[in-house]
Amino acid sequence: MHVPKVVEIKRIIQETETVKTFIFDWKVDEEYPGQFMMVWNFEDEKPMSLSLIDPVKEEIGISIKKVGKFTEATHLLNVGDRLGLRGPYGRGFQIAGLKILAVGGGIGMAPVAAFAEEATARGVEVEVISAAPTEEELLFLDRLKKCGINLRSCTDDGSYGFSGFGTDLAEELLETNEYDMIVTCGPEIMMKKLADIADKFEIPAQFSLERYMKCGVGICGQCCVDNVGWRICKEGPVFWRDELRLITEFGEYRRDASGMKHSLL
Ligand SMILES: Cc1cc2nc3c(=O)[nH]c(=O)nc-3n(C[C@H](O)[C@H](O)[C@H](O)COP(=O)(O)OP(=O)(O)OC[C@H]3O[C@@H](n4cnc5c(N)ncnc54)[C@H](O)[C@@H]3O)c2cc1C
Repeated sequence: MHVPKVVEIKRIIQETETVKTFIFDWKVDEEYPGQFMMVWNFEDEKPMSLSLIDPVKEEIGISIKKVGKFTEATHLLNVGDRLGLRGPYGRGFQIAGLKILAVGGGIGMAPVAAFAEEATARGVEVEVISAAPTEEELLFLDRLKKCGINLRSCTDDGSYGFSGFGTDLAEELLETNEYDMIVTCGPEIMMKKLADIADKFEIPAQFSLERYMKCGVGICGQCCVDNVGWRICKEGPVFWRDELRLITEFGEYRRDASGMKHSLL
């Protein structure tokens, strides 16, 4: 079950200068938005969210942002090259309610896009905030508009759409609209602010967390969080607001591969 399946890259979409989406033929069975795959390039293995789940075309996609050795190496791959995929793993987003506000910051848009498409396909009204520092870094705008999702773009520098942070726009929308739930993935500092906003508006919310992962299946303990000891790869990566309150390190710090703490502030 945990043996990587070696698959050919079927298509590659250059989303932005630093983000590429890799699409694979895959028999979609139990894959849910918010879950992740362990991606093996025959040297190293890293967690990547499912950014596309298409049961009709029998395809899945992962969107990779070039940030270091592993991701730079995957960006050099071409159609027909192979990667090993293990998964899907973790607990994904739950779809609940009739109108949902989904907020994705940067590459955090990867699981948010998959969620928005799935929820829309199930008849739920989804409003998506796609936030990025600049216009060039905004993700999945055309793709989401095509499936009829109400999309709001938002840039830190005001180069496109709403000028400011995704959290500012979320707060503005929540003042004037009724939503049943918020879902979000992005920089933890953004999600921390959204947790406070969810409290202010007394609205249920789900958050997708990232921690350094090694096994991806709950054995090694690398991604355990203080103080509850939940494994982000197993009990998460998606948590409800009430669960998040028990993760005392949320918004404060995270650990690197050696277990050393790094402040997020
Ligand atoms: C559940 C989950 C889903 C993710 N989904 C995506 C995604 O959809 N797209 C995407 O581009 N990235 C995603 N990431 C982050 C991605 O795994 C790292 O960016 C990647 O591993 C960086 O590797 P690197 O060698 O290129 O860079 P490095 O220079 O090794 O690392 C850059 C930063 O990435 C993080 N990172 C490195 N290795 C790991 C690891 N094994 N586990 C977790 N974080 C790590 C660390 O914060 C590190 O500081 C996800 C992480 C998690 C935990």
